[in-house]
Amino acid sequence: MPRKELIKQWGGKGDIFVIAGPCSAETPDQVMSTAMAMDVGKVDLFRAGIWKPRTRPASFEGVGTEGLQWLKQVRDRTGMRITTEVANVKHVYEALKAGVDVLWIGARTTANPFAVQEIADALRGVDIPVLVKNPVSPDLNLWIGAIERLYKAGVRLIGAVHRGFSFYGKSKYRNTPHWQIALDLKREMLDILMVNDPSHISGRSDLVPWVAQKAMDLNFDGLMIEVHINPPQAWSDAKQQLTPQEFNNMIDSLIIRKEDLPDDNQCVETLEELRAQIDLLDNELINIVANRMEVVKKIGEWKKKNNVSVYQSSRFEKILDYVRDKARQYNLSERFIETVFKAIHEESINKQSKIVNNQDVREGIES
Ligand code: PEP
Ligand code: MN
Repeated sequence: MPRKELIKQWGGKGDIFVIAGPCSAETPDQVMSTAMAMDVGKVDLFRAGIWKPRTRPASFEGVGTEGLQWLKQVRDRTGMRITTEVANVKHVYEALKAGVDVLWIGARTTANPFAVQEIADALRGVDIPVLVKNPVSPDLNLWIGAIERLYKAGVRLIGAVHRGFSFYGKSKYRNTPHWQIALDLKREMLDILMVNDPSHISGRSDLVPWVAQKAMDLNFDGLMIEVHINPPQAWSDAKQQLTPQEFNNMIDSLIIRKEDLPDDNQCVETLEELRAQIDLLDNELINIVANRMEVVKKIGEWKKKNNVSVYQSSRFEKILDYVRDKARQYNLSERFIETVFKAIHEESINKQSKIVNNQDVREGIES
């Protein structure tokens, strides 16, 4: 479905669907002052967590049900619709009773099919839109599975929120984006509203506008942004929340890309010419890879005859050194070229193992 129509279905006002508000509702004043300082005309949905799923138990775990009233006051005063996170059946009942407009399912809950099923069952016969954050692990099927459980329970309007994935180690991100997983979900489920959450991906406020712009470049339908009247004093996720002013500026300076190609004929012709060149080059690439694999097979036969092990680490190191050097010469990313050659090498090793073990190596027959 075209983005424009999708956003209309969700009651959105602009070119993208904007969800914004604090990570957590802390006090009535913090919720209201944050809402009032945001450019209300540019926000489609006001967010705040009432029940907070925290990784460690000593953290602030949310104000609970009373916070729902503070959200309703925001809706009454500004007209913005409201959303909060639900993680169990009790949350669903409380949120529905209070008249929350949209529910969202958090990353830790999406990762648990039992919890998602309970929520889905509680929503049977209720017409409320639901946003599903990606699970904490980079598992596309787990994400799709949660969405399917909701569809099966009769929820009509479902959106996906891409908030990045957990990992162990150091990175500039709090949660690795793995953009491809979100793009793959959208490819499989075309009528899903695909929202990016730069706040939880970044983990730090200065990176948020950059990630948000990247999401726009990749044709996301919307953004979920954490905004707090006084971020350093926030009771949760202090480092990643924007001030209302920063949020307003960011929304104003986003470049929103067109989804469709322009009408201008000449412009489209240039693109088509370039795409034709890409198609030719892709063809050549496949040819070269196929030729390389033929040579790989011959080497496999040689290794078999001479009883030499398939994997030769020093040889592979040499290849990697060589292609890294070439990457530098051609101004290509070394990491990218390394990834490509590791994939090619893995396939070569598979092919040769099959030869050495006397398995059928005809194309298309996998053992
Ligand atoms: C949140 O949105 O504040 C939150 C807890 O998000 P996530 O489920 O993505 O961690
Ligand atoms: Mn948060």
